[in-house]
Amino acid sequence: FSTSKVNLKDLVWLSARSFPPCMERLHTSLKQQHHLRHWGRMQYGLFLKGIGLSLEDSLIFWKNEFTKKMNTKTFDTEYGYNIRHNYGKEGKCTNYTPYSCSKIINLSSSPSEYHGCIFRTVKHESLALKLETVGQDQPERVQKILQLSQNKHFQIACQQYWLLRHPKETTGEPISTLTGTIHPNSYYNNSIEYYKR
Ligand code: SF4
Repeated sequence: FSTSKVNLKDLVWLSARSFPPCMERLHTSLKQQHHLRHWGRMQYGLFLKGIGLSLEDSLIFWKNEFTKKMNTKTFDTEYGYNIRHNYGKEGKCTNYTPYSCSKIINLSSSPSEYHGCIFRTVKHESLALKLETVGQDQPERVQKILQLSQNKHFQIACQQYWLLRHPKETTGEPISTLTGTIHPNSYYNNSIEYYKR
């Protein structure tokens, strides 16, 4: 995972530019709802830890959103512990790592939750709308992603989505062959590298 530090103030533009779609969705939902349920907090919180968000900034980040709906004492009591726990500062002090795609794909969810892999959980029509918006100039790739998603090739769909969002990538290779394996954090790391070139 990333060894560099991420600043809290950069999360807004980073989420729109370089986050995998599952994490971008969680970020947007958190900003809109000021809350995420358990698996959403776990999936997104560990991803943020993996890209280099410190425990201190993580506590500020979640508190800023949640206290739009609850008081600080409730947040500290009910949610602060779990955030520190994810960073290995509570309980057995395990240093938890971000979830892999296969773990995320296999999480079950309800309509009121936003975690999971969007290529599996988001309805075809909504996914098509999102892809057509971000990939207006690449209709063939949009169709390819939708097809892969319908055929349950979620991770390959996501590799193609990365190429859709990073159109100057000249290798044309899916990110799995660029990095060895697909992972939400490798999606992010590859995007950061892409913009450094
Ligand atoms: Fe997220 Fe992985 Fe699904 Fe891509 S394939 S949306 S990184 S869970």
